[in-house]
Amino acid sequence: MAEIVLEGVDKIYTGGVKAVDGLNLEIADGEFMVLVGPSGCGKSTALRMIAGLEEISGGTLSIGGRVVNDLPPKSRDIAMVFQNYALYPHMTVEQNLAFGLKLRKTPKPEIERRVKEAAAMLGLEPYLKRKPAALSGGQRQRVAMGRAIVREPQAFLMDEPLSNLDAKLRVQMRASLNQLHDRLGVTTIYVTHDQIEAMTLGDRVAVLKDGQLQQVDTPKNLFDHP
Ligand code: ADP
Ligand code: ADP
Repeated sequence: MAEIVLEGVDKIYTGGVKAVDGLNLEIADGEFMVLVGPSGCGKSTALRMIAGLEEISGGTLSIGGRVVNDLPPKSRDIAMVFQNYALYPHMTVEQNLAFGLKLRKTPKPEIERRVKEAAAMLGLEPYLKRKPAALSGGQRQRVAMGRAIVREPQAFLMDEPLSNLDAKLRVQMRASLNQLHDRLGVTTIYVTHDQIEAMTLGDRVAVLKDGQLQQVDTPKNLFDHP
């Protein structure tokens, strides 16, 4: 687990768009922080910079007390979950869960232990031998989360992970996410444009507008003093 600190972080894309503008944000060890705001406000860009998928144009980013501005994604020990799942279609659920660990040469008994644990936590045991095509959207999203969990990273980053699910499943998955976070206590940054999702999931919510931080507070305080 790790705290994540952004100090005056900027992102200027080629062509001059300032997508993130002087962002200051401290996410405590074990905290569930939601980044919320309208489309185009810079949420994904901020998350992608933390993941190391996008270069930082200015400012300082540290994870677990270490400045990571120039570290590649693989060296940051964080796992990202996307809205489009990115599962391997030709592999079973079990193989999808195990694949990242195999690449990292994790010993087989350790892989088995982690896959079993993640499957239990996410209710995926009945589906371990199925391929993604034979799963519902919610089940696929659980597999995607399982792949992040088995890595036992210092932090989770999630970019609109529920946006492809229908309303009923989104409500279920929110409850699962809350449970999962209570259980694992891993520092989490979650991007959404959905205010209800932000309020139900976040320990704190950071509201972005035009690449800048407008407010950051607990859901209760934001609700009482919008
Ligand atoms: P959000 O996730 O809040 O919808 P983004 O971070 O995707 O916002 O985008 C923030 C701004 O940066 C927008 O104006 C968007 O058009 C611009 N942008 C995003 N990605 C790129 C890119 N690869 N190149 C140039 N501009 C980009
Ligand atoms: P990690 O443990 O790093 O998350 P993954 O198993 O997610 O490893 O992915 C390993 C590599 O394969 C990454 O470069 C990723 O972008 C790529 N990848 C992930 N899913 C797919 C997919 N469905 N099809 C093709 N490539 C993928």
